[in-house]
Amino acid sequence: MADRKEVMWCTLCGARFTQDEIKGWGCPKCSNQGIPCACDKDTTVEVNWHELHILCVWAENWAHRSMGHPSSDPSSKQMDQVVHAIARRLQAQHPTFGHLTLSGEIAALPADLAQKGIEIGNVETNIPKPGLLPVNGPGAVGYGRQLTDTQQPEPK
Ligand SMILES: [Zn+2]
Repeated sequence: MADRKEVMWCTLCGARFTQDEIKGWGCPKCSNQGIPCACDKDTTVEVNWHELHILCVWAENWAHRSMGHPSSDPSSKQMDQVVHAIARRLQAQHPTFGHLTLSGEIAALPADLAQKGIEIGNVETNIPKPGLLPVNGPGAVGYGRQLTDTQQPEPK
């Protein structure tokens, strides 16, 4: 890892790449056509889990709506998967804090209630179940940097 000068990574599968490993547009591992993350922007932020939950639920909702829209371009059709991949990478960092997407909460509801002694059948919903996602790397997990005071941009 220390010898590799990675320059970008895939928002869908999390694979990280050096400049030499990039061959044209699209992720070499999963073929995602979305804009990749620049490794020099891997960072840490201070946030409350509820703030992340709000962002993920709204992003998930918007991605679902956009996929079915007649004017949606091909890259927006993958946004549903990308939003879930981002939420899963975040969620895996604090697995006891709860699901960050509505689909994840609904999918886990029967098991979560069963732990409390409440048995329910199938949950009827129009929220699509989270699907399988390609995982080829960690994304920014393990690479986040905290900027020192001297690296902080000047306030405007
Ligand atoms: Zn990928």
